[in-house]
Amino acid sequence: MTASPVQLLPRPVDPSVDHGIQAIVAGEASGSTCSTDLAASPWTFDTTPGYGPGASMGDVLPTGSPAQGTLPATYREAPEEELHERIRAAKETLGDRVVILGHFYQRDEVVRHADYVGDSFQLAKAAQAHPAAEAIVFCGVHFMAETADLLSRPEQAVILPNLAAGCSMADMADIDQVEECWEQLEDVYGPLDEPNADGLVPVIPVTYMNSSAAIKGFVGRHGGIVCTSSNARTVLEWAFARGRRVLFFPDQHLGRNTAKAMGVPLEAMPMWNPHRPLGGSSEQDLRDARVILWHGFCSVHRRFTVDQIDKARAEHPGVRVIVHPECPMPVVDAADEAGSTDVIRRAIEDATEPTTFAIGTEINLVQRLAAQHPQHTIFCLDPVVCPCSTMYRIHPGYLAWTLEELVAGRVVNRITVPGSVADPARVSLDRMLACVPQAPARKA
Ligand code: SF4
Repeated sequence: MTASPVQLLPRPVDPSVDHGIQAIVAGEASGSTCSTDLAASPWTFDTTPGYGPGASMGDVLPTGSPAQGTLPATYREAPEEELHERIRAAKETLGDRVVILGHFYQRDEVVRHADYVGDSFQLAKAAQAHPAAEAIVFCGVHFMAETADLLSRPEQAVILPNLAAGCSMADMADIDQVEECWEQLEDVYGPLDEPNADGLVPVIPVTYMNSSAAIKGFVGRHGGIVCTSSNARTVLEWAFARGRRVLFFPDQHLGRNTAKAMGVPLEAMPMWNPHRPLGGSSEQDLRDARVILWHGFCSVHRRFTVDQIDKARAEHPGVRVIVHPECPMPVVDAADEAGSTDVIRRAIEDATEPTTFAIGTEINLVQRLAAQHPQHTIFCLDPVVCPCSTMYRIHPGYLAWTLEELVAGRVVNRITVPGSVADPARVSLDRMLACVPQAPARKA
């Protein structure tokens, strides 16, 4: 689509993307959405065999995804204000027994109830600051709740309000595919745990935080490490100090953008397509590789284009373009800056003069930043309103339900990582923490 970058609503900016989508679909606001289905309630999506508009490669529910039970009608039918009141009341009753975590990309109607707002790892760490809390309600997606479970105490229950809130990128690296890839690499490189004369093993696996606990466990078992979008470069340096190559998953773009900035030539970064023998590369390409990139991507960040940046520059002379490193390489190259959600947030906070920012990341964060910083003009590079549709499934109705169940003494939608996976997964996280400290999440 070629519409101009638009604010969802006139200033003061309403941080609610949901209100914007409802208004667009009802014809009460200009602009467009990537799917009018977004205006429907998530329990409506959950009854259909899809994975949410724009969420996944084939838009098909991945095998093994949890099936969401029916949300009771009292939550489905309650008006927005009633749900907020019920959430507030349940939270007050529970007091310190519960901690609510809200991801930067979460819808505003949910984030307003969060005790902490941050990225996935900041939030998992924030939960650790509340060892006495019985329950951690993670308003994010499945892999984030798994990470919180890995870092919390065993008796604490980590709750994902809607089990259908997955991450299409994380689902692109399935543990069976990764195990198969590792066997094929062993056929090419020989024993993968044997260092050469320089003390380097043939390949070190590195996984982005946005991956399942099973993948983090695989990485932990094979001498590898986890990275975030804030520390990917430091983690790759750690890996290159131990191996001749890196197998990077699931996000090809974060891997490519980071390795390119470190001087790794593009021809030394073959892609691994799990559906093709040797990932679709030749043995020679794999031998010459420095970074093998898994064929994964974020459906939200893949939407950003160089054309959007050109248009923003033409329409807003002097605009500062900042994009997330999950965006494709040409977009990162064309932007003024690239960085994690935290980098984007701090860049805006630190701007002392009124500035126009065009941001290439998820719309809920962009819209919230625009509302929080009215002295600046802040808009999303993508003119089409297209939130992370899986995270968007955490509707206030689900949050009210999980909290009221806790009040009644029942834990629903608990995410538990089995010990056989959790132990090596913690090893891979500990390696990351040892090589780079993390900025903390903010209290909301
Ligand atoms: S924004 Fe992309 S990477 Fe993040 S949770 Fe959504 S689909 Fe996954």
